[in-house]
Amino acid sequence: MSTGVSAGARFSAIRELSARVPRKYEPPKDETGRDLRMAAYFGSNVLDRAKLETRLPRDAYAKLVQTIEQGKRLDPETAAAVAGAIKEWALGCGVTHFCHWFQPQTGSTAEKHDAFLSFDERGRTIEKFSGSQLIQSEPDASSFPSGGMRTTFEARGYTAWDPSSPVFIVEHTNGKTLCVPCVFISYHGDALDEKTALLRSIDALSAATGELLKLLGDPPRKVVAMLGVEQEYFLIDRAWNSLRPDLLMSGRTLIGGQPPKGQQLEDHYFGSIPARVLAFMTEVEHELCKLGVPVKTRHNEVAPSQFETAPIFEEASIATDHNQLTMEVLRKVALRHSFASLLHEKPFAGINGSGKHCNWSLCLTGTGGSAATENLLEPGKTPHENLRFLLVLMGVLKGVHQHAGLLRAGIASSGNDHRLGANEAPPAIISVFLGDLLTRILTELEAGSINGQAAEQVAIRLGVGKLPEIMKDNTDRNRTSPFAFTGNRFEFRAVGSSASPAFPVTLLNAAVADGLGALVRALEAKVAAGKTRDHAILEVIKDAIQQTRAIRFEGNNYSEDWVHEADKRGLPHLRKTPEALEQLVSERSREMLTRLGIFSEEELVSRFHVRTERYVKNLLIEVDTLIAMVDTQVLPASYSYAAVLEQAGPVAHGALERLCVLAGELAARRDRLEAATRGIGKGASEIDRAHYIARAVAPVMLEVRESCDRLEAIVADDHWPLPKYREMLFLA
Ligand code: ADP
Ligand code: MG
Repeated sequence: MSTGVSAGARFSAIRELSARVPRKYEPPKDETGRDLRMAAYFGSNVLDRAKLETRLPRDAYAKLVQTIEQGKRLDPETAAAVAGAIKEWALGCGVTHFCHWFQPQTGSTAEKHDAFLSFDERGRTIEKFSGSQLIQSEPDASSFPSGGMRTTFEARGYTAWDPSSPVFIVEHTNGKTLCVPCVFISYHGDALDEKTALLRSIDALSAATGELLKLLGDPPRKVVAMLGVEQEYFLIDRAWNSLRPDLLMSGRTLIGGQPPKGQQLEDHYFGSIPARVLAFMTEVEHELCKLGVPVKTRHNEVAPSQFETAPIFEEASIATDHNQLTMEVLRKVALRHSFASLLHEKPFAGINGSGKHCNWSLCLTGTGGSAATENLLEPGKTPHENLRFLLVLMGVLKGVHQHAGLLRAGIASSGNDHRLGANEAPPAIISVFLGDLLTRILTELEAGSINGQAAEQVAIRLGVGKLPEIMKDNTDRNRTSPFAFTGNRFEFRAVGSSASPAFPVTLLNAAVADGLGALVRALEAKVAAGKTRDHAILEVIKDAIQQTRAIRFEGNNYSEDWVHEADKRGLPHLRKTPEALEQLVSERSREMLTRLGIFSEEELVSRFHVRTERYVKNLLIEVDTLIAMVDTQVLPASYSYAAVLEQAGPVAHGALERLCVLAGELAARRDRLEAATRGIGKGASEIDRAHYIARAVAPVMLEVRESCDRLEAIVADDHWPLPKYREMLFLA
């Protein structure tokens, strides 16, 4: 007897899989038919400044550069000239459509395509792209999350080209589209997107750093935040993905028993990359290279079927665009290779999740058109540079210490909740790791007498200048810290793999701008009180070391001891997303973010609403998916196998009884989950609903999962319809 539940689809997937071969793509060739070097076609789909310079009249180009550097809007005349140049370039590349490409608060990107096709005055068809089409467009803002910032009927918004980010071409099977990177703003001027606030935070940081440099007597230079984003992801065969409703709906497996082998053999990290995967990575890099994303590193990660890609760091706003493109290309190219790339923070229980390490530093841009930058987080060659380094470092420590809760809010999502604090990823407590040498220097500075010493001499005596070499050799880096200094940058490791870096980096920039601002005021006050500059600097550094002691932690962040220790130090420990998100609208966050002009009060509240709502929706989707899987797959498979056991007679009696008990228990837990979900108050506020779900619904999901996984272990393999962990993770 058969009830129709079987492993048929799974078994055909296994057959399909064994026939797969690595996909070959044709790399671009030169005139002689030889493969082009990567450097030769890097950025071929991007109209960067250098290309624009050759295509624009000199005065129009000069105006554009001025606009970019001063962050202003293009005047209509220049816009028309630039649009003309863009159109000629795009048409020459075979582009038919253009779109404004922007980053609404969904965490991903949005685009609406329009053809260049148009009519002229005499009714003939032409290709048209005007200055106003370049600089502005009006998508229907009411269809994007705004967190209630404006009621729907007046929720009009527009996208505006951000000329600091060059236009680029995206290719698809049957054509090409020109993308114009934009910010997305309401008619009242509110930021509806992720990018606007990021740009504001970069300005705030630049301004605060500029003030500090001025006090130090340095010449004025532009300061920019630099960002290098390591992207982790899982890659599984597409067939598995299609057979798992949970992966399709929520991006993670809601059930699935542990395979006998996970990552305990530690044989995957940096292991040799499987042929099909390498073919995929090569094509991903090829696509990204054309888009001007400087992809550099690729390797296996710790968990089976987990990988990483990382670019060379760039200015934070560009790096953020490029990370969005990277995620998109990873998804798209995976399908061509019959893979699915999973960007969720925790697609599989019991093995490592995925992060997005945001490597962050503060650099002075080159003068006189040179691209060379000077990193303010790199101890320098001269005592003066080292002193500056220590001050900037103190600014970071102060910012992170003051706003640890806010930084935690910036990385909060339902996906990241499964990763933070799971003894494999940084915990939900924000702290800073500095390393032995720097810690020793700070300890000496704090304890030492500084009377009568020149500040620069103190820096030499303490050996700050030796830091770069020491850090380079130092392989013993603390990988458990959420925010670690790695020689010339900080690595913000707690960010989740699927998140846009824009929001967490906006908050980090803001926090550090605030920290640096506090140092500036302290220095000014000391100098005004008659202290020499040297003396004032040393005192300010010393005070900052004392004030921020609690945020520094060099030990194992995964240990239980740290949780107690952090509690004693008064550091916020915000375990779940709802409590973390409340930090966005705390008195302290509001005051700082509005003072620095990064968010208005209303914009900030809207971020809080959008993120809370997303958390609730994600969890409700997971609950519905889980219940559907129990009802239509797990329980039917159990009943169908029970019928087989029954037919087998007395010999299977014990097995049948065990199965029935487990299936009964699952049915009961499933009902409890449904009941718990009904308990979410309809009239309650969104944040109350979020708290309730985290407290009362999520734990029942785990109970349901436990029952499912125990059934998976006893139901005959040929009755189990869902791809198993061992298949998804080890068969590709
Ligand atoms: P690891 O895995 O050892 O942390 P990776 O090579 O995977 O290192 O990634 C390091 C990332 O940090 C790269 O994207 C790199 O370009 C970036 N990076 C290096 N220097 C800086 C810097 N000064 N500022 C920002 N990012 C940086
Ligand atoms: Mg890495």
